Formats: sequence, C-alpha cells, structure tokens
Amino acid sequence: MTPAKNILRIAISRPLYSLLDYQCPDELTVQIGCRVQVPLAGGFSVGIVVKKATKSEFKKLRNILKVLDKEPLIEENSLQLLYWASRYYHHPIGDVIFNAIPAPLRKGKTLPLMKVWQLNTKLLEQADSLLGRAHKQRQLWLFFEKSNKNEWLSELQINQGLEQSSVINWKNLLRELIKKQLILVKEIPATFTALPRTSTPDKEITLTDEQQDVLKQLTLIYQAKKIKPILLHGITGSGKTEIYLRTIAPVLKSGKQALILVPEIGLTPQLFKRFQQYFPQYCVAMLHSALSDSERTLIWQAVKDFTIDIVIGTRSAVFSPMKKLGIIIVDEEHDGSLKQQTGFRYHGRDLAVKRAYDLNIPIILGSATPALESLQNVERDRYHYLRLNSRPGSRTRPVVLVQDIRGLVLEAGISSLLLKEIQQHLEADNQVMLFLNRRGFAPVLYCPSCGWHAICQSCDTNMTYHAGISKIICHHCAREKKVSLSCPDCHHKGITTVGQGTERIEHVLQTHFPEFPVVRIDRDTTRRKGALDSKLAIVQQGKPVILVGTQMLTKGHDFPKLTLVGILDIDQALFSMDYRAQEQLAQQIVQVSGRAGRGESKGRVLLQTSQPEHPLLTNLLNKGYLNIAKQLLSERKRWNYPPFGFQVLIRVTATDKIKGFVFLQKLSQDLSLSDLQQPDVTLLGPVPSPMAKKADRYRFQLLMSSANRAALHYLLTDAVVRLQAYKKSGNIRWSVDVDPLNML
Ligand code: ADP
Ligand code: ZN
Ligand code: ZN
Repeated sequence: MTPAKNILRIAISRPLYSLLDYQCPDELTVQIGCRVQVPLAGGFSVGIVVKKATKSEFKKLRNILKVLDKEPLIEENSLQLLYWASRYYHHPIGDVIFNAIPAPLRKGKTLPLMKVWQLNTKLLEQADSLLGRAHKQRQLWLFFEKSNKNEWLSELQINQGLEQSSVINWKNLLRELIKKQLILVKEIPATFTALPRTSTPDKEITLTDEQQDVLKQLTLIYQAKKIKPILLHGITGSGKTEIYLRTIAPVLKSGKQALILVPEIGLTPQLFKRFQQYFPQYCVAMLHSALSDSERTLIWQAVKDFTIDIVIGTRSAVFSPMKKLGIIIVDEEHDGSLKQQTGFRYHGRDLAVKRAYDLNIPIILGSATPALESLQNVERDRYHYLRLNSRPGSRTRPVVLVQDIRGLVLEAGISSLLLKEIQQHLEADNQVMLFLNRRGFAPVLYCPSCGWHAICQSCDTNMTYHAGISKIICHHCAREKKVSLSCPDCHHKGITTVGQGTERIEHVLQTHFPEFPVVRIDRDTTRRKGALDSKLAIVQQGKPVILVGTQMLTKGHDFPKLTLVGILDIDQALFSMDYRAQEQLAQQIVQVSGRAGRGESKGRVLLQTSQPEHPLLTNLLNKGYLNIAKQLLSERKRWNYPPFGFQVLIRVTATDKIKGFVFLQKLSQDLSLSDLQQPDVTLLGPVPSPMAKKADRYRFQLLMSSANRAALHYLLTDAVVRLQAYKKSGNIRWSVDVDPLNML
C-alpha cells in the first residue's frame, strides 16, 4: 500500500464491479459527483468521482486527465444511494451510476441546444386563409394563439399543453406551420421551461374526519428524531391523494422538494394535473421513460437547480438529483412494476425507503393492497401503519358478486348476465369496465382437423392471434407471422381459435352495443406516444363508454362515472405454481374492483369464475384483503419464503442447452464447496426456468435462499466473482436478481 494524497475512487462507465483508484494531480481540483476523463486500458473513459481517499491498495496510480464538471453532476446523497444499490443488487457500479443520468450527459457532453417556437403575430390576419382547410394545423395554430404570445414554447410545454387535445404528431404539423411562416422557430441553449400554470381555482375539498385524523398522526410522526416509514393502507377511493397533497404542502413551504413515485407511466398525467392544480405556486414535473433524451436532461438539470419542486415519476425517478429532498411518496407501493426486471434489477420502493432513511425524511407508502413485505415491516415495528377505511361522503365500497360460470354458455367468455348488466349501466348513463389480463384476439390458433396449433419456434409458448393485423405474435420474443386461412400441416380450411383476449372482447362488445364507444386499453393500443392519454381523455369526458383492458387499467385510475366492473377469467391464476401468485391475484381483484363506484353512483363488480368456492376468493370477499394477507404471510413463514427468508435468483441463458446447464451447474458445485458457503444458505438448482426457452435461448436458474441476509450476500459476492471468471462458451449470459419478484 502506498501512501499518497488526493486519491479519487472513480466509477467508470463500463460494467465493472468496483471503483477504480486514480490520482488527482495537484493542479486539478475536483469534487465528488463530478465527471472526469481517465486513461483506461490504452484508451480513455468517462468516470464519476464517488469517493476521495488518502490511501490505495494499488502501487502505481495513474492521473486523471480532465475534470469535466465544475459542479457535481450528482450530489452526494444520490451518489451514495447508487453506490449502496450497486452493492446490494450486485450490479456493476459504473452501469448503475451511468444509467441513472440522462444519456447525453453520460458521454461527457454539456447541455445541448433546443428549439423553441412562437406564434408569428405579424401574420395574424393572414392566418385564416393560409390555414385553409388544414384542420389539424389550425388546431395547433390555435393552441399557440391561445397561449402567451410573447413566450417561446419548448417541446415539453407543447407536449404537455396538447396532452388532452386530439392533436398528435404535432412536430410534422409544426413544420408545415413554419413553412407558412405562421410560427417562428429558434434555437437556444437548453433550459427547462416550466409549464404554463393553470389558473382555474382548485376545487374545495373538505377532508373527512378519517382523513384529518390520518394527517394529524402524520404530523406527530414527523416530529420524531428518527422518522420511520409510514404504510398508508387506504381502501380504493378513500382519498389517499388528498393526504399526499396536504402532507407535502408544509415540506414545500420550508423550501424542500418532494418526490412521488408511481408504478405506471399512465398514472403520471393524472397525478400531475392534480398536483399542479393544488400547488399553482410550485413547479411540478414528470419524469418517465417516454421522455426524449433532451427532455429528460432538461428536467434532470432543473431538479438539480431547484427550479422543480415536485417530481412525479416512475421507478427510475428514485434517483432524481434533488439536493433538498424533503419527502417521498410511493403510490401503489405493492405494485410489481416498481421493480426493474432487466439489467439493473432494483426495486424503486425499496430504494426510496433507503434514500428516506439516509436523509431521515418522511416516506409514505400508499396502497389499498399493501405488499406482504410492507405489512410484515409493520408487524416488526419498522413501519408505522395508518388506515383509511371508508370512501368520502356517501360513497361506499362496490358490491362484489361472484358468478359461477360452470355449465353456462358464454359469448367470447362473457356471461349473458354480465351482458345484461352492461346494458343497464350504459343506459343509466354510466361507464363500464371489463378486465382481462390477456391482450390479442385469442391465445390459441388451432386446426380442428389435425390438432396443429401455433407455437413459437423460439420460445416455449403459444403464439397469440391478433385479428386486426391478421398475425400471430409471440408475446415473449415478438416473433410474428401472417396467418393463412388453411392449416399449415393438413391444409384444412377451417382454422379456428380458442379462448379470448382483449381484442376479441372489444370486437364482441362493439357488435353488441353499437351505439356506445368501446375503448380498449392494453399495450397494443397504447404503444404510440400520446395514445394512452387520448384514450383516457375519452373516458374522462364522462359519457357512457365500455372500457376493455388489461392490468394497465387497474392501477390507481379515478373514473368517477364508472359503476360496473366485469372481471373475466382469473381461474388460471388461482392455480399458479408461483408462490407470489395468490398475493398478486388478491391485489388485482381488489384494485380492479376498486375502480367502480368512485363517483356519486354506487359501484358493482361481477366476477366470473368456475371456482366460486376457491378459498382465496371466498376469504377475500368475505373477510377482506388483510385477512388474506395474514394467511399468506403465515404460509410464507412456514416455508421461510420472503419476507421471512431472503432469495437471490441467478439466471443463465445460452444458445446451447447443455453448455448453459453445465455453466450454472459448475457454479452450484463450486459454491457448495466454497469456504464461504454457510450452513444456512440453501442452493436450489440449476433447474430449467419456468419458461425454459425464450427467444432462441435456453434458460436455467439457481435459487439461493437463506433466513440470514448477510450470509446470503456473502456467498453471492463469491458467486459473482466466480461467474466473472468462468470461461463462457455457447453464447452464455448470466444475471443476478436480488429479491426476485418473479421466477420466470
Ligand atoms: P385513492 O385512495 O384510491 O387514491 P383518490 O385520492 O383518487 O383515492 O380519491 C378518490 C376520489 O375521492 C377522488 O375523486 C377525490 O377527488 C375524491 N375525494 C377525496 N377526498 C375527498 C373528500 N374529503 N371529500 C370529497 N371527495 C374526496
Ligand atoms: Zn390441420
Ligand atoms: Zn417467442
């Protein structure tokens, strides 16, 4: 070990597990969190200074070459969170840090230029004739005409300003308007421009006694020296959002920032509007995956500079660079989408809890169906538990009716009772929603003559029939194929389908109820930017419509005119082998049901099943979610499953089946013989993954579990070192999933 001064421990933007030590030459000064250029393996690389030290275990250190930032790009508390996360999830530190910053900043670039647009007021009088019959262009022009005429509008402002309108693809339209000189354009150094504030006064909401009581308790909790996280268990429609708003208000007033995490991008606009309306004096921004690189960079920078007070975002927003973070809210904290399932597999909620703990600031985890992990944290006295048990005013919880469909003739999976009820609710001027967790027209396309059915050649799975585009598509690898009318094997001409997905339900309902719009919301209908928003806008108008959708629809949405929810086909999930399936199903049923009856009229839920006596259903409906949760927790305890034990899943995929298996088997054997192996860590596998082949790769997994988290992580460190050292053939890839949420 050489004593030296000015040693910098740097995360390099490469998949390396450790920080690298460099020396800072005397003539340079650099702060933690700044980007630097360093020599690496005969070339250069960008790095970020994570720590400073005075000693290094390496003899000869190289100098950093350049300091790229005067001010830290990431401030110290998020940097420490990232560093901690890279060790907890056993993911390369460089990957973790560089993925958390917007792409343009990763390469050492400075802020880009951006375009801004303004109405050409000199041509106001000619506008009408220049626009002629270009209807869409006129709409866009009117948008400019209505906004402040002296202000240059940014992409972000236009995007969000047009969100509720039917104008899509505005960039093309804008190009035309610029050609006609009706709109002016210029380039300026990129800065964040806040959205025009709404001037409509906020609707007066008087809190219910229950809400007030929760707020009072929150105030007491915040006075503690060490603040514990709060689990806010409020039934669907109980008004959790009002609690969030009012508990954030004093934090903002004291000059601090607030972070709101939501599981799904579709929920951000809804919350955004509510927050903006409630806090007209503050700046709110959304941070999610649909932003362009430049939009993200701008928001990121503005969060850092305190221009933005409130960030509403999906899981990666947990890393947003707030210097004065004062409170975190995680809405729908039970939702699996908060966990990233590829690459750096982190859990947004868990990291939010860690960030709040480090800063000793309040964090509220809100849900109508808390995760078992969170409930167990209440049980262990690590979290506070607050409850909202009723809906405000005269609103009540929806009535749930279980319909036994055994022996009934169904139309595309829909019972005649459900069809009749849909009719009644629509005629009463209300909205209806049907939930089915399968997109496409039908999950199986088959030949009744020879038994052929469409399977994916790259995966172990059926291909789903999509009628609108006459294709079969694999939902796991996206392989697709045109469908022909005759069987590819026996040339029989009567190829047919089994089962149904949302596309078929949409089709059937449209024929049944031609006078009402059917709005389908799933991944297929919402892929285009803005599509989801415009669909939600139709529903928000409040006219009678039928909504058909997958789980995208179940989360957090507030549709006041929705009175009937139909739940189709949950039977498969009742028999799933995954130990988390029952928890997820219970959450899903409660959440979907909770969309009904949130406005003035009463809500009703019809759940179709061939298993009406299944204990999960009967207990859930008779005794409620907490009862189910307790029961599931006691089963988990018996088996030492999370949250009582801890798990890590190591996955290996390979194009060569044998080589993939042997690779993971070697790890399993080496670990059992390792000095670091402890008696209380169990290794299970290697076994083929539940989906044994996907996208032409064979998949295997090794489950490591233990009631002792430290022992587990100790051995995992050893495993990762070994995995890096093993020779790889057969195109092997491996990954580590700490606290896995699914075993697929
Ligand atoms: P959730 O708990 O499911 O998140 P929301 O916060 O979306 O519930 O509230 C459900 C509906 O109840 C919203 O339309 C909201 O405006 C309304 N609401 C909330 N609190 C009150 C209240 N105290 N009085 C009247 N309406 C309320
Ligand atoms: Zn056939
Ligand atoms: Zn496939």
